[in-house]
Amino acid sequence: MAFEFKQVEVKGVDGRLRLAIRELIIPESGVTVIVGPSGAGKSTLLRLCNRLEVADDGLIRFDGRPIDDTPPLDLRRSVGMVFQEPVRFAGTVLDNLREADFLIGPAAAELLLDRVGLDGSFLTRLADELSGGEAQRMCIARALATGPAVLLMDEPTSSLDPSATRTIEDQALALAAAGMPILWVTHDTAQMNRIAAHVVCLIDGAVTYRGSPAGLLTAPDPRIAAFLAEQPS
Ligand code: ADP
Ligand code: MG
Repeated sequence: MAFEFKQVEVKGVDGRLRLAIRELIIPESGVTVIVGPSGAGKSTLLRLCNRLEVADDGLIRFDGRPIDDTPPLDLRRSVGMVFQEPVRFAGTVLDNLREADFLIGPAAAELLLDRVGLDGSFLTRLADELSGGEAQRMCIARALATGPAVLLMDEPTSSLDPSATRTIEDQALALAAAGMPILWVTHDTAQMNRIAAHVVCLIDGAVTYRGSPAGLLTAPDPRIAAFLAEQPS
């Protein structure tokens, strides 16, 4: 498995439980989609995986080792993350890739861009002048630059139009097919159906379902039925 959660709890400042996970295993292949309504704890779960957040209780293992055995900066090189809004640093796309790997040369950078479907001409483009979808693909390439073993993606298409969204989904599926496990957060079950090999449904900080995407749609849990009923048809 890529990640293993045991008795993990995260509390808010008011002491209220934001996340409570008795036991959860994230497989080390394919796209695993964490789906659930807004406020369910999806981002919290993802942020725990690279220690952008720390649990109040319980144990999280990555690749068999407790994640707090690894210094956070090292952990974040093996657990790459892509956020909702593409993060652009000043300068060119190559400058942006160098934020992750300051020694990277143009040839290696071009290979990274190729993995996200951008050609070499993008290396000298200014990051600020990219479209949203191109910028998000640059962010994926930058996350890949540290040689991660897994990618975390938190609603990575929520600021993109449908066409750019499909492109990012296809890139994620291609990366997963090439051996990069991906943990992808979305509130959108239509997107889940397009990309998920495995599904974890979080509602009110708890895992309410694990399994195939098809199984979620017929799950008997009334909380899941209520969540599905809110989805645009
Ligand atoms: P989701 O990503 O599913 O929308 P979040 O993980 O962002 O959910 O939030 C889960 C719960 O934790 C919500 O009740 C939210 O208000 C709360 N929360 C999120 N971030 C923080 C934070 N940094 N400090 C305290 N509470 C937070
Ligand atoms: Mg979120």
